[in-house]
Amino acid sequence: MIIDTRAISENESLVIEGEIIEDIWQLLESDILKIAEPLKYKVTASIVAENLLVRGDFTAPFISQCSHCLDTFKFSVNLTDHSLLLPIEGNPTIDLTNSIREDILLALPNFPNCEEGEENNRKCPASGKFNTEDAFGKIKTKESQKTSLKDWEELNKLNLD
Ligand SMILES: [Zn+2]
Repeated sequence: MIIDTRAISENESLVIEGEIIEDIWQLLESDILKIAEPLKYKVTASIVAENLLVRGDFTAPFISQCSHCLDTFKFSVNLTDHSLLLPIEGNPTIDLTNSIREDILLALPNFPNCEEGEENNRKCPASGKFNTEDAFGKIKTKESQKTSLKDWEELNKLNLD
């Protein structure tokens, strides 16, 4: 996804709509995640203080395997009203591919669940059999408690000073 900054006039934004057909994901043959369709985007591009600001909607459809029932299912990662800000640094064209790939990969579910796929009202046949989500939920809570305790310690130190 390459944007020609020369096509964007000052104080105006350019509406860009399209899809990335080439394989940008660098997924491994062994990954349970596969690309279903090209990444689609509808964004506005503008120049803000020597930076290229691209803001809009990105949709990337994937096929993955449910972590519970192991069925494959199709789902989309949707980044809505998502912003990317990249320094222009005198370059006439800016390649956004790496930025958008990273943001979409970060938005992927850690434990894909077929109930969140495209199939309406799907009930995962294995739901309730495993309590992985609960277990992970507990770990997360412990971690966040630790973080907040640490924050208080920092605050206390500041108060003593
Ligand atoms: Zn499932």
